[in-house]
Amino acid sequence: METVSIHRPSDIPRAMQATLLGAQMEAGRLWSDIVGVHRKAREDRAPWPTRDMLQKHTKGRYRLHSQTVQMICHQLLANVQATSERRRNEPSSKRWLRYPYKEKRFFALYWPAQAVDYNATAKRLVLPMGRGRKSLVFRLALDFEPGGVKLVWNEGYELHIVRSDLAKAKDAPGGNRATVDLGEIHLAAVATSTGEALVVSGRGIRSDKRLLSKQLGEIARKRSRCRKGSRRAKRLQKARERRTLLSRRRIRDKRHKGTRKVIDYCVEHQVGTLYVGDPRGVRKLKSGRRHNQRIARWEVGKDMDYLGHKAERAGIACSTGDERGTSSRCPECGHRHRPKGRDWQCKACGFMGHRDVVGAVNMHLNAYDAKVTFPASVTYRRAGPMRAARGVKSPVPSLPARRSSPGTGLREGRAPPAPQLPATSLPQGGASRRDRTAGSPVRRKAQSQAA
Ligand SMILES: [Zn+2]
Repeated sequence: METVSIHRPSDIPRAMQATLLGAQMEAGRLWSDIVGVHRKAREDRAPWPTRDMLQKHTKGRYRLHSQTVQMICHQLLANVQATSERRRNEPSSKRWLRYPYKEKRFFALYWPAQAVDYNATAKRLVLPMGRGRKSLVFRLALDFEPGGVKLVWNEGYELHIVRSDLAKAKDAPGGNRATVDLGEIHLAAVATSTGEALVVSGRGIRSDKRLLSKQLGEIARKRSRCRKGSRRAKRLQKARERRTLLSRRRIRDKRHKGTRKVIDYCVEHQVGTLYVGDPRGVRKLKSGRRHNQRIARWEVGKDMDYLGHKAERAGIACSTGDERGTSSRCPECGHRHRPKGRDWQCKACGFMGHRDVVGAVNMHLNAYDAKVTFPASVTYRRAGPMRAARGVKSPVPSLPARRSSPGTGLREGRAPPAPQLPATSLPQGGASRRDRTAGSPVRRKAQSQAA
């Protein structure tokens, strides 16, 4: 797997936009043509086209750089090969998994590393379009030597630039083992074989998703009041797209940062083998409208993807597997019950611990056939940057990494140190909240007396 850096050039001139559109349509024409050739060969039971045949077929027929044409042909052959493999290994997929057959109006443009030219002093990325045609020039400040480039449309143009400068760790960070329990409220709970644990909160992502749903609802309400096709309807549609994309980018960023914290923690604790529990079994269970929606919104496959990718680069051997039963077993006495709330309390032996950490600790038995001691302390982290507290004007750049506090007071172990805020930026919101919670029983009492 390769690492790409995504750039969204914002200042593309009108004329260039037209060029890009034309080039993507030309690529779409190319894709449709070669898909047609391949499809015809399949239908005629003729030998399937090889790389050379496609190359000969496409040579000089498209207004694109020759290597762009080649890369698109390779893309088709790679898709065909992946489809064959899956159909062979998983016969049940034959019912729905088809070989490429769709014609496309647009297609992404590719350039291999050798066709890409980057001028670091002028900050210009030059992508050739073939002899006799003007090259595409983007103004970009890159801090690395670009590899291959892909130009895609994602509600706006995006350049996906392969980074080949990032070195892969040669050796594993150590011989310890760890398990990861993925969750929706807590993005990941990690338990190491040395009896330490990390919990990365997923609440930031959850709240972003909730906010998006509310704002889209608001836009939908406004849209329902205007005439179809009117200028206002179009504007609202634009707003809807913009908002969705913003949210998607924010969530992707947080997901990367959260999984990065998991891998950094593993490196710090000399973990060489990582086991990620695959919770997708729970997707099939029916558990009510609200819960079903929450589960559907939870993008656990991405978490697993990102973890695998980041672990690979850190030299950690990462595997995934079933996590059935890990969250309903007591790590001390093995008593089974379904936990309620965020704390796991054993009715048989009185054990008490963080619910997701329990899942991760129990997973050691599934993954490595070894029992580990329940961690005495848990490190809490948030997936995301430190943001200035409400009412504080400028964010303080020297703030420590964002932490979550366990807060309930129920758990054993020590709480993480509070972030060191400078005296001037002590949030007033925090104090007032404390006042509110302290005052509430009194108020309730007063109300009951009045009643
Ligand atoms: Zn127990």
